[in-house]
Amino acid sequence: MTSSSKSMTAELPSYTIRVSDRAKCVRLSISIESGLEVVIPANYDRHKIPEIVQKKRDWIIRNQLKLDQREAFFQSQAPHELPDRLNLQSLGEEWKVEYEQVETKLRGIIIKEEQSSFRLILKGNIADIEVCKFFLKQWLMQRAEVQLSKWLRKVSNRVKLPYGNVAVRSQKTLWGSCSRDRNISLNYKLLFLEADVVEYVLLHELCHTVHMNHSDKFWNLVRKFEKNYKILDKSLNRSWQIVPAWLDF
Ligand SMILES: [Zn+2]
Repeated sequence: MTSSSKSMTAELPSYTIRVSDRAKCVRLSISIESGLEVVIPANYDRHKIPEIVQKKRDWIIRNQLKLDQREAFFQSQAPHELPDRLNLQSLGEEWKVEYEQVETKLRGIIIKEEQSSFRLILKGNIADIEVCKFFLKQWLMQRAEVQLSKWLRKVSNRVKLPYGNVAVRSQKTLWGSCSRDRNISLNYKLLFLEADVVEYVLLHELCHTVHMNHSDKFWNLVRKFEKNYKILDKSLNRSWQIVPAWLDF
């Protein structure tokens, strides 16, 4: 091995191999949660993997860089502090968050919601930041479950693409996904994004009920309903900067 090829391999992160019954071919994925993963079909010849990883090195380095930038941005956002407002752009709502220390034997926090003035008041042992965050996240999840489900139903009716169930989840890097049974899951953090970007995510997942990939056929279907899909997809890629850092800390 020459020294230059050595440094080429040194740049690549180490990877784990995951066998998937559903995988038809080799696929690479990279995320904060799992790092670099090589997903292979059962009975796949593992000797081929190092070569495949080398072939994909540009893609790996590019995406690793994106994740590194994301982490650096995240760390600069004072994630340990509690928020004094929640800007739910998708719904056009900006909530003011207030904290009130109240003597209580319970560890929990009560959230009082004042719809008319968009005020949330957290009462209880507010010195416990982790507990406050937990209850704020719960509140956001519930709001997302109601609002995003309604929204998905509306878009589905408009484009006439039916789906199975919808679930709202908390994921660090994934905005949404669609299973083979046409069940759609959506990230509650979509609440913080702009409405047209959220609408694009809903449409994108609904188009996956027809095409389970990112083939030309898939993008043609997306284009049929949303001409600006490329611009929206780009904004979506940048959108993690809008999500408050305290949520993931
Ligand atoms: Zn997709």
